[in-house]
Amino acid sequence: MKALVYDGPREVHVKDVPDARIENPTDVLVKITSTNICGSDLHMYEGRTDLEPGMVLGHENLGIVAEVGNAVVKVSPGDRVCLPFNIGCGFCRNCEEGLTAFCLTVHPDPKMAGAAFGFAGMGPFWGGQAEYLRVPFGDFNCLRLPEDAQDKETDYVMLSDIFPTGWHCTRLADMQPGDSMVVYGAGPVGLMAAYSAMIQGASKVMIVDRHPDRLRLAEEIGVVPIDDSKGDPVEQVLEQTNGKGADKGCECVGYQAHDPQGHEDAAMTMNRLVDSVRFTGHIGVVGIFLPQDQNGPDELERNGKIAFDMGKFWFKGQKIGTGQANVKHYNRQLRDLIHEDRAKPSWIISHELPLAEAESGYQHFDARDDGWTKVVLHP
Ligand code: NAD
Ligand code: ZN
Repeated sequence: MKALVYDGPREVHVKDVPDARIENPTDVLVKITSTNICGSDLHMYEGRTDLEPGMVLGHENLGIVAEVGNAVVKVSPGDRVCLPFNIGCGFCRNCEEGLTAFCLTVHPDPKMAGAAFGFAGMGPFWGGQAEYLRVPFGDFNCLRLPEDAQDKETDYVMLSDIFPTGWHCTRLADMQPGDSMVVYGAGPVGLMAAYSAMIQGASKVMIVDRHPDRLRLAEEIGVVPIDDSKGDPVEQVLEQTNGKGADKGCECVGYQAHDPQGHEDAAMTMNRLVDSVRFTGHIGVVGIFLPQDQNGPDELERNGKIAFDMGKFWFKGQKIGTGQANVKHYNRQLRDLIHEDRAKPSWIISHELPLAEAESGYQHFDARDDGWTKVVLHP
């Protein structure tokens, strides 16, 4: 089959690889029809992880069930399904509690919790930027889609990651109706966090970035754009909130935070969030801070440990929630919002490309070229 393979830093190629196939009786084989490029793919693409060449990337996947293992009972060939980026077993303590991003059995290393498709450090599972994807524990992980699946395919594919991840960030921040919210990062994840806050009845949502195209998109759905190339973003948030700061905050950038001039400081957005959120406010963090042993050798000290101002955070009595999104915990409800036309996350898509053009999609998205907000690949 054809698949997008990681061959080394900024080297990804569409090539022939052995076909994905049923390996265990609980597996489902899915013929992929839509698969997105994610900001998380860029950590691997840029060579910031210890990913071995040869991995098929792609963790935001949707398709049609092609074949099922003998033990699969809930899905059948022909069903249209969306797959969470995390792979859960469904029966461990964490999966039972809805914490599927921290499944205790799927990752082959018993010290680890959590597994994912096409991801450095998250197990050996190939991704779905390919013609076919093997889905372990298919009964648990496949989300069946309703009869409008084909018409709304580019909405439903956002259920694999960024829509639930943005939503998760607002839940980590314990956002309540009427709260004001500030989101750092207007990439696909930050835009989905802002969108989720709007849907849940925030009184005011602000988003900080410096890319005019991304800020414009946010403004189109009623979010207040804050351009940090035009002045201190904290001051701008305080001006918007009577000097008090936002009730809640979302971190959707991660360790690659930098200023508009390109100077990297992995703690920048965390410290700015503490300053932008009011005393006793809550902060959700979904931007990735790679643990040290997953970074390339030059990055060891820089990315895992950050210069976070614990003193100010403590003094303000704030709370923080972190981690990968437990996609399965949210995607049924978010699917139903899409089905009932109460949410339409495809507004974020800038490009749809055939899988054969994936390399160019990676280049443009990695460069954050003007207008390249979210790329969907169709194998
Ligand atoms: P992205 O790289 O496209 O977007 C990041 C945005 O942050 C960019 O628009 C960039 O200009 C902006 N930015 C950089 N420095 C900034 C600063 N100092 N202040 C404000 N904005 C700044 O990526 P994305 O796809 O939106 O993903 C965002 C993060 O979320 C990544 O770290 C990604 O790995 C992570 N992620 C986490 C989960 C999860 O489950 N927790 C899931 C998906 C993605
Ligand atoms: Zn993703």
